Amino acid sequence: GAPFDVEHVRKDFPALHQSVNGHRLVWLDNAATTHKPQSVIDATSEFYGRHNSNIHRAAHTLAARSTDLFEGGREKVRRFLNAPSKDDIVFLRGTTEAINLVANSYGRANIGPGDEIIVSTIEHHANIVPWQLLSQATGATLRVIPVNDRGEIIFEQYAALLSGRTKIVSVTHVANALGTVNPVREIIALAHAYGVPVLVDAAQSTPHIPIDVQSLDADFVVFSGHKVFGPTGIGALYGKKHLLEAMPPWQGGGHMIEDVTFTKTVYKGAPEKFEAGTPDIAGAVGLGAALDYLESVGLPAIAAYEHDLLDYAQAGLADIKGLRLIGTAREKASVMSFTIEGQKNEAVAHHLDRHGVAVRSGHHCALPALRRFGVDQSIRASLAFYNTREDVDIFLKALHRLPRH
Ligand code: PMP
Repeated sequence: GAPFDVEHVRKDFPALHQSVNGHRLVWLDNAATTHKPQSVIDATSEFYGRHNSNIHRAAHTLAARSTDLFEGGREKVRRFLNAPSKDDIVFLRGTTEAINLVANSYGRANIGPGDEIIVSTIEHHANIVPWQLLSQATGATLRVIPVNDRGEIIFEQYAALLSGRTKIVSVTHVANALGTVNPVREIIALAHAYGVPVLVDAAQSTPHIPIDVQSLDADFVVFSGHKVFGPTGIGALYGKKHLLEAMPPWQGGGHMIEDVTFTKTVYKGAPEKFEAGTPDIAGAVGLGAALDYLESVGLPAIAAYEHDLLDYAQAGLADIKGLRLIGTAREKASVMSFTIEGQKNEAVAHHLDRHGVAVRSGHHCALPALRRFGVDQSIRASLAFYNTREDVDIFLKALHRLPRH
């Protein structure tokens, strides 16, 4: 594609062009959520302003338009993930709901007492708690892949956990609290040698790294619209067709049935079977616009640009006195998690906010990951392609100016 021009893409994001506490906004909270390009805002507002209808194609003109727009969003998700068919894409509220769907539908149908579920130490709580609830309900056991001091999973220990008892492996592609990029291709290949399906949590990787579900041979892939420059309240699950077809519905209601009597209900096939109720139609339209936008900028170019920017930022952090970087994996994306000796995390975040710099302090919904490193909180700065070296310089300069006690 065209060479990456950060000043050009920044123009597309209205929220970036504001001042906060008298300084230009430096948004380094991208791992929590991303800003939206004008095209996403326009697509959403045009949906409500012109097309708005529930999705029942046959009823009338606006219904047909809304249905086409909603299904058009689904086709864009299919293309983004290179899924074989748009019927393999289920619209949900986001990553959290998608993992809960797999745990409750696939999990309850296939996992029982004595079975094992494998996750890693560096998962978001959304990829821990649903499996824990499933384990409690079924008598299965959660097994956890350990990580080394850099925050990389120890592959041999993963291999040692796999067995005939393993029923599913569910791992993140990029760890939200540390930035580690997991070797998902190798994780999947090894699980498949045991006949075990793998769910990839792509919430943190989709904004940074191209994903091809067929090339990875992933069984389930989940992500959230709001982390890929789209709206909140919408996300998607990709599942291999034979898995989705065999899975029972999770929630019941309208839109998901062929026929209902008081004695028997016949469900539609995937994906409708998993989409009970009126979905976030405008959200699906906005997500489609976000994926179009990402495609126009080009994820390979984004990945290369961000890689450089992350190196630049991490080199700068190494000069901050008393700073401890948590998560030093050889393969990282976007995230810099750290503590500073003698400083309270929250006070550092407030100090940065006074300089217009937005970062997050807290546990980032990944307590086990942080505890592996002896902390239960950190400061997290996370990059997106619209960040610049100037953003990083402002952030570093503000850190150099921290009041020292
Ligand atoms: N997994 C990972 C790796 C995440 O970073 C997040 C969001 N912080 C989630 C899951 C949950 O995503 P959501 O809140 O959009 O459902």
